[in-house]
Amino acid sequence: MGGPVGAVATVGVLALQGAFAAHVDLLTELGATARLVKTPEQLAGVDALVMPGGESTTMSKLLVSSGLFDAIDTRLRAGMPAFGTCAGMILLATEVLDGRPDQRSLAAIDIAVRRNGYGRQVDSFETELDVAGAPFHGVFIRAPKLERLGPGVEVLAEHDGVPVLARQGAVTVASFHPELSGDPRLHAQFLDHLYQRS
Ligand code: GLN
Repeated sequence: MGGPVGAVATVGVLALQGAFAAHVDLLTELGATARLVKTPEQLAGVDALVMPGGESTTMSKLLVSSGLFDAIDTRLRAGMPAFGTCAGMILLATEVLDGRPDQRSLAAIDIAVRRNGYGRQVDSFETELDVAGAPFHGVFIRAPKLERLGPGVEVLAEHDGVPVLARQGAVTVASFHPELSGDPRLHAQFLDHLYQRS
């Protein structure tokens, strides 16, 4: 799979449902070309994919009906970098502990997640996280909780002893919404990783 052309990566943002607009703004601010992805044809034109927050059960249905589930699966297996936040993390997980019976996930990172592990909408919260020694404001909205990590998964941040930011190979996942705190550092890290691979 080709890397980004020249110095600018084309990053797709899955836009079937949910909080995709803020991701587009941050990626654009960082100098990447951000493209909304709603079809397999649009996926074919991107170097990497951000999977946003929203409702993973709805996104799962739309991924299947649009033909994107299989297309993304194929790209992930070929090494496409992906960044999943909140519902996006659920969709990338190996195992969804409280998923709907027909809910599918891409098994691109060896984690088990509990979809509403931090409670319901009213239990949403914000907190300061420590990411590589620097504070990062974490916005948790009906956040999924990581309950099991495979040996190949690296923990990049924790909250109360539970991993909330993790990476395995080219796939990074966050329980929280880094696009909502107006802080571009995690997106910048994702782009750096992408440039290093090209
Ligand atoms: N818990 C939600 C789900 O199951 C995700 C919440 C979010 O993305 N803000 O999809």
